[in-house]
Amino acid sequence: MNHIYNFSAGPAVLPKAVLEQARDELVDWHGSGMSVMEMSHRGKEFMGIAAQMEADLRELMGIPANYKVLFLQGGASSQFAMVPMNLLRGKAGMDYLNTGEWSKKAIKEAKRYGSVNVVASSEDKNFNYAPAQDAWKLDPNAAFVHYTPNETIGGVEIFWTPKTGNVPLVADMSSTILSRPIDVSQFGLIYAGAQKNIGPAGLTIVIVRDDLIGQTVAGTPTMFDYKTHVDNDSMYNTPPTYAMYIAGLVFQLLKREGGLAEMEKRNIAKADLLYGYLDATDFYASPVARDNRSRMNIPFTLKDAALDEAFLKGAKEHGLLQLKGHRSVGGMRASIYNAMPIEGVAALVNYMKAFEQKNG
Ligand code: PMP
Repeated sequence: MNHIYNFSAGPAVLPKAVLEQARDELVDWHGSGMSVMEMSHRGKEFMGIAAQMEADLRELMGIPANYKVLFLQGGASSQFAMVPMNLLRGKAGMDYLNTGEWSKKAIKEAKRYGSVNVVASSEDKNFNYAPAQDAWKLDPNAAFVHYTPNETIGGVEIFWTPKTGNVPLVADMSSTILSRPIDVSQFGLIYAGAQKNIGPAGLTIVIVRDDLIGQTVAGTPTMFDYKTHVDNDSMYNTPPTYAMYIAGLVFQLLKREGGLAEMEKRNIAKADLLYGYLDATDFYASPVARDNRSRMNIPFTLKDAALDEAFLKGAKEHGLLQLKGHRSVGGMRASIYNAMPIEGVAALVNYMKAFEQKNG
């Protein structure tokens, strides 16, 4: 039996060391006689787990003290609504960059709350690049500027931080958070679903500058108001306790392994390995503009799409799973988050080479 490598875009591969620790602690957490799943979220054990986890995330990302960290549910998709509900603050419009499927969903939802100005779009080229900042038409009176630093489906990543002056910058970091260091102080708000680089599905992390909280649009449900969760340390209602615990184990592992600078180094090495091969052959191709090639989600096509099925079948036989591209774009996609070891990428490249030799 081959080693299994899971290239799913999310829920995605988790570090084996974390799964093993969770297994060891599953039934009896630290002698408490309980599983973390069974603990009251208000009990001292779980409060300790939550506090440690937040402290570790703050340390890893260098989150300044004037930012709140919220542990919510509802996925990044709920943030598509919560961001406008909380950050519109009586202003007329919101700025959005459109770089693909996830941007489009965020834009569609924001339009329910006010007028959306699309500052720039890469739809003209099938979303295969990100428009440079000098092509953005920013509105200086916008409530905020929203963008998607990594489009999980298109595999388009923006490695620079947009400059938006006094207008708060909002980022959907679902598929890039923790993959490299970022300067949190450049952002008004960052959100991410956990199920890629953080932990299991069911947890959504929001990092928000404190002056932006508490001015929701009329009619905002209590659960959709960031202030509710700030005032209650994310324990207004029952938080996703087990997902938070696993995320906490991931944060501890990342700290032990050298933090986000080390993750970035590894992620560059992994991405270079795959892109290097894609560039060296004309049997496969990367559709994404060079400067925007995602380090996390790498779509690629076979020269002859009629071979797609045979490619996937053979990959599976080699223990290389979940390589089928998103239904909206076709082809292949390899998601190589922090927890994907370079050995997994090397195994994929070796398989791709062998497949090319057989079919090229
Ligand atoms: N934004 C991005 C960039 C994503 O990749 C995803 C999920 N793939 C979402 C939003 C939606 O996240 P969720 O399923 O957690 O609502």
